[in-house]
Amino acid sequence: MTGTISLETGSTAAAAGHAYRLLIDGALVDGVSTFPVINPATAQPFAHCPKADEAMLDRAVLAAGRTFSGWSASPVEERAALLLRLADAMESRLEDLAALLTREQGKPLAQAHMELLGSVGTLRAFAGMRAETRVLRDREGSHVVEHRRPLGVVAAITPWNFPLILLMNKLGPALITGNTLVIKPAPTTPLTTLLLGELCQAILPAGVVNIICDQNDLGSLLVGHPGVAKIAFTGSTATGRKVMATAAEGVKRVTLELGGNDAALVLDDVDPIVAARKVFAGAMANAGQVCVAIKRVYVPEALHDEFCAELVRLAGATVVDDGAVPGSMMGPLQNEMQFEKVKALLDGARTRGTILAGGAALDRLGYFIAPTIVAAQDDSDPLVSEEQFGPVLPVLRYRDLDDAISRVNDSIYGLAATIWSSSEARAREIAARIDAGTVWINQHLAMDPSIPFRGAKQSGIGGELGLAGLHEYTQAHVVNSVPLANIGPHEEVGS
Ligand code: NAD
Repeated sequence: MTGTISLETGSTAAAAGHAYRLLIDGALVDGVSTFPVINPATAQPFAHCPKADEAMLDRAVLAAGRTFSGWSASPVEERAALLLRLADAMESRLEDLAALLTREQGKPLAQAHMELLGSVGTLRAFAGMRAETRVLRDREGSHVVEHRRPLGVVAAITPWNFPLILLMNKLGPALITGNTLVIKPAPTTPLTTLLLGELCQAILPAGVVNIICDQNDLGSLLVGHPGVAKIAFTGSTATGRKVMATAAEGVKRVTLELGGNDAALVLDDVDPIVAARKVFAGAMANAGQVCVAIKRVYVPEALHDEFCAELVRLAGATVVDDGAVPGSMMGPLQNEMQFEKVKALLDGARTRGTILAGGAALDRLGYFIAPTIVAAQDDSDPLVSEEQFGPVLPVLRYRDLDDAISRVNDSIYGLAATIWSSSEARAREIAARIDAGTVWINQHLAMDPSIPFRGAKQSGIGGELGLAGLHEYTQAHVVNSVPLANIGPHEEVGS
């Protein structure tokens, strides 16, 4: 452990004064300039982030490219051992990383710890996974083998809601399969990634992991760089479309983990109080800034009022405060742009629906929104039809289950959905009719490094986690052979 952390006086990386550096070709380097990083709980800058330019991006990609052949040829057990060392190093700096994560992202410290523990667990899980060679046929003299080969330089581009765990979903599979990396974090949450870079620098061979930071100006250049073979992107659907368009020129591999507007469908056989508690937790985690947060809930007419009353009670009991303050249950929104977006959606909802709880920003510094419950009138309200990404839950009534299922499916998104029922069998039948990559029944956010996660429709392409997620970092390479003796003595080309 690095010692006790005091955010105020701070002798650790979470404190102002730490010199954050980019990681290029094994060296921690200054950028061409710096930009301020804001603590969303105060709306004030607390540190400066080095900024790369195009020449630095180029150096990072070239370093990753140079390192690729040696790294990919190294025994997989050696790469696994290095990933485990990195996981151990993260664990030993857990307090430090968690405090910094809270400070730049805003989430309560306990939730920052959970993200760190999840990140360490994900890295360890990928260290144990292998892209196995498969014998597809071995009979009558025919031998067909499928190998899995790394792709080369992977660009990992991450968003601001879970800066570390979403990076581990990429770093783990990319490195264990023999790829090298250029990482670009979101401009509003770059520092935990840079701190991780210090650990990478001490543990991994030079050039295997490179980290550059930008102000939303280098992503497209990174995606289009001829030295990049694959883009592992998590972010909004709007940016995902641009990534895909830029990658098309080089027919590059892409994994796109994009936005969602996940629905919860409450069936008429549940205790509305129990269901409300679970749905509230699923909607409000990380102040609603979770790609798979419950963003709208469909409730049978008969349960509606009791269900809403419990949501309102829970909203009132939620302690909203700076994530570094003990007892804080919900932090601010991560950045000003998101804060303004959610406020605008609430302004609209005020005229179109009934605000049952919350409904406004807190009267204090920082990007805080009160946990909000809205009795929504219909699905066309932008609060319902768009990905609001805030601590706001619109509740919609339904009379007919088939109609509710079509409303759940009536979205450009298809990331996940949840069904709440006392009959798992009934819920499973309904799950089969939901257009989403994942349907959770009576649970939410049950993510596991061994279970693949993929978005349907405009929520993404390809996926992360599990063996399927591992394979996304490889190219199948088939060797199909027969013995020379199988060829007849007079066989001619074209015969
Ligand atoms: P964003 O799309 O604004 O930014 C994501 C990243 O893309 C940032 O690093 C950004 O700098 C970079 N970027 C910006 N323009 C780019 C370009 N033209 N080319 C390449 N990269 C570019 O997303 P955000 O606001 O940081 O994150 C929130 C979004 O992420 C939400 O929509 C959320 O649902 C989604 N998300 C999805 C998942 C998932 O697994 N499906 C997980 C978390 C978040």
